[in-house]
Amino acid sequence: MTFQRPRPSPTLRRCPRCKTVGRMYRSHARNVFERWMKLFSPTLVLYRCHHCNWRGYMFRRFKQQSRLAFWLTLLGGAAGVVLGIVAGAWLLLHIVALLVGR
Ligand SMILES: [Zn+2]
Repeated sequence: MTFQRPRPSPTLRRCPRCKTVGRMYRSHARNVFERWMKLFSPTLVLYRCHHCNWRGYMFRRFKQQSRLAFWLTLLGGAAGVVLGIVAGAWLLLHIVALLVGR
């Protein structure tokens, strides 16, 4: 193996479908979900394989690409949003209860 520079490069990534190394490129967000993911999940980046046209999320920092870690990140983000809404609603209800005088 030759020495590789530590700078992250798309050419060093392996495609999960066709296993080709060096044909992975950053893909642009095409819909609302992908735009939302870009905003709320900086560790997950959308990639596209120019060899077999595979498109999907990969971790920007981690070398190991695991399905479980992907869903945990997604669930973590969703749980954070849900908790925020629940906490906001709970606070609002208590403020209303105070205003009403109960
Ligand atoms: Zn591929």
